Amino acid sequence: MRIPVCLYHGVELGRYSFGDAHPFGPRRLGAFWDEVQRQGLDRQVCMCAPVTAEQSVIERFHTPEYVARVKAQSKHGVGFLDAGDTPAFIGVYEAASIVIGTTLDAVARILRGDCRRAFVPIAGLHHARRDSAAGFCVFNDCGVAIETLRAEHGVRRIAYVDIDAHHGDGVFYAFEDDPDLIFADLHEDGRYLYPGTGHAEETGRGAATGSKLNIPMPPGADDAQFLLQWPRVEALLRAARPEFIVLQCGADSLADDPITHMAYSAASHAHAAERLCRLADEYCQGRLLALGGGGYNLDNIAAAWTAVLRALIES
Ligand SMILES: [Zn+2]
Repeated sequence: MRIPVCLYHGVELGRYSFGDAHPFGPRRLGAFWDEVQRQGLDRQVCMCAPVTAEQSVIERFHTPEYVARVKAQSKHGVGFLDAGDTPAFIGVYEAASIVIGTTLDAVARILRGDCRRAFVPIAGLHHARRDSAAGFCVFNDCGVAIETLRAEHGVRRIAYVDIDAHHGDGVFYAFEDDPDLIFADLHEDGRYLYPGTGHAEETGRGAATGSKLNIPMPPGADDAQFLLQWPRVEALLRAARPEFIVLQCGADSLADDPITHMAYSAASHAHAAERLCRLADEYCQGRLLALGGGGYNLDNIAAAWTAVLRALIES
């Protein structure tokens, strides 16, 4: 019998949204879920419910001062949590805590052997810094997951692969000098897109030099260009032999996203997920966690995330 894939779904996850007028709106989760059901994927996975995280858990990555600030702004829901991309709303602290708790529940289930892989759609909030929100990201579940893998599960060497259109700066800079965080990120060139970072020369600092791979892609980059660069990701991971793989599979790198300029199809996402599952089987006892990340075109969210989920199931 095949060990199942865990998929997280529930209205609580959908509460992480900034309203109808914001790109990170309330219909993202439903767009994915409708397509999951249409393809019958929900019958091939172990369905899991969202979980909320305690404050102390969030503070494994974030500073207590920043967590307290989100909590305070969550009460009145006025203003922004950053310079203007990430608005506060009433209950934003609770909503962001559910993203963290759900990602960590997925980590725990994988480590316990309940499943080999897991997918959390509303997650992969890769821009949040230790001490601030950024780019629609309140708390960085990727960062909390990495800290938790180490502190709670004794997993030190972790590969983080990011194919979202935006550079995963919140993860990159938090672990820039950490040689055991293997980081590979294909993203739209920062000269044309937020957050403007992720230059090819940024390969890690000090002892961590060479543990990071940033691949800026030109605007309009398509599947062929993705496939041309992808082997560099695999080469980095093979040389590093990680114990656990995190994939941030943002759907905003597909053509016709309203806020980016990339032109992949869901085939790129399927390829990345299939190949990383293979690497996870070789080096990580199969352990792979996929996080939805960005994506602001609902059809693209449905296509890219179900392509990843299908790869997790069929690998
Ligand atoms: Zn993005």
